[in-house]
Amino acid sequence: MAKRVEMRTLDAKTRINSFDEVALGYNKAEALDEAKRCLNCKNPKCVEGCPVNIDIPKFISLIKEDKLDDAYLEITQANSFPGICGRVCPQEKQCEGKCIRGIKEEPIAIGRLERFVSENHKDLDNIVIKENGMSVGVVGSGPAGLSLASGARNKGYDVTIYEALHLAGGVLRYGIPEFRLPKKIVDEEINSLLKKGVKIELNTVIGKTLTLDELLEKHDYVFIGVGAGLPRFMNIPGENLSGVMSANEFLTRVNLMKGYMDYDTPLKKAKEVVVVGGGNVAMDAARCAKRLGSNVTLVYRRDVKSMPARLEEIHHAMEEEIIFKDLTNPNEIIGDENGFVKAIKCSKMKLGDLDESGRPSFIKLDEEVVLPADLVVMAIGNYPNPILNDSTDLITFNNKGLIVVNSDNFTTNPKVLAGGDIVTGAATVILAMGAGKLASSKLK
Ligand code: FAD
Ligand code: SF4
Repeated sequence: MAKRVEMRTLDAKTRINSFDEVALGYNKAEALDEAKRCLNCKNPKCVEGCPVNIDIPKFISLIKEDKLDDAYLEITQANSFPGICGRVCPQEKQCEGKCIRGIKEEPIAIGRLERFVSENHKDLDNIVIKENGMSVGVVGSGPAGLSLASGARNKGYDVTIYEALHLAGGVLRYGIPEFRLPKKIVDEEINSLLKKGVKIELNTVIGKTLTLDELLEKHDYVFIGVGAGLPRFMNIPGENLSGVMSANEFLTRVNLMKGYMDYDTPLKKAKEVVVVGGGNVAMDAARCAKRLGSNVTLVYRRDVKSMPARLEEIHHAMEEEIIFKDLTNPNEIIGDENGFVKAIKCSKMKLGDLDESGRPSFIKLDEEVVLPADLVVMAIGNYPNPILNDSTDLITFNNKGLIVVNSDNFTTNPKVLAGGDIVTGAATVILAMGAGKLASSKLK
């Protein structure tokens, strides 16, 4: 049986000196070899594992026939953003996790094939849109909002996206770093929406610049996809010292700087960076800090096996010589006489029984370690931002600040829909896109 075709990557020593994309994608011969491994199953479990139900065997068959434009059309019927999803979706838990070939050997590299198709098709912007005379206002330009905008525009709605920041894309723009998701891919996929006639109003905070009531006066429907971008902290002594920041702030500064090393967003040059957390956000922050020239230590309270980050990201971070201190949990951040961070004091931990999340619990030991640090980045999760919640009673929020929706993604207001992280809590790009797609299909 042919083995899964590996994807070429930049070697670790080269890549830590730049923000260039690490994974290099398949060339045509590699894509064809991998496509040939697909069994074209009668009952393809991969499709069940895909949150937007792409007809995976069909698009893979089209690759085998060298019909790449058709393969692109097949994918984009279900997902308008294959260049993004091919790069950042956790396929190992989704389509590839269910792939029948994966039962006895390695699953088909569906994400890599999706990425290959997204990079090898002609410009196919010939969709004819029949205007329906109605309009939708979309709050937030992350994957949920973009996906809703695409689906609604295809149905003939006049669509305007309102985005708080000066650039569109949500976490795709300011969270996920360039070396995992080049911004030109985000630009291309957003540009294809603009070409279809979707409008984007930047620097517009709904709940401040405009209210939800005002949006409802302008539009027949409003979709809310504002994400969950309010960082969580540990509430330990020293968190207010200079040199402690959330991963959101750190990654936003890194991502929105103009170019590597000639940025105009101030970011402290740190020698020793400690990142707290074990998810994708922590890996991204650690790998960015490495590229900015720091020694980086990642501190996590459980063991490496329990880290929620994708295995591939953990592996890449290890290759890049990020120091992993697992079973270690911060107690205090220590400052110098000027209020700047100089170290972080942590307890060593051991694992206990499984907790309600299905992961091992962690138990504090008597042993402490002190790690030098001049920058500490907290990557321990996010809450929903309360701006919208505080500004309207037209929709219902639950006690966690998330918007309450029904199975069609309508809120308690029949003119307002919502989806993505602001409904589910922090989740994934494809789940947010799936929510936008479902909501667009429910518009009249
Ligand atoms: P967001 O992407 O958060 O977008 C919300 C948008 O709304 C933002 O642009 C925000 O500025 C805007 N907004 C907020 N409030 C307002 C307002 N009041 N008015 C106007 N606009 C507003 N998922 C994966 O699948 N794979 C990964 O590899 C991955 N890596 C990640 C790495 C990082 C660093 C982070 C933070 C997340 C990562 N995720 C990953 C998770 C994924 O990015 C999110 O689940 C997804 O982006 C959620 O999409 P969304 O559209 O709901 O919200
Ligand atoms: Fe191909 Fe795997 Fe899907 Fe079967 S389950 S059609 S082998 S990708």
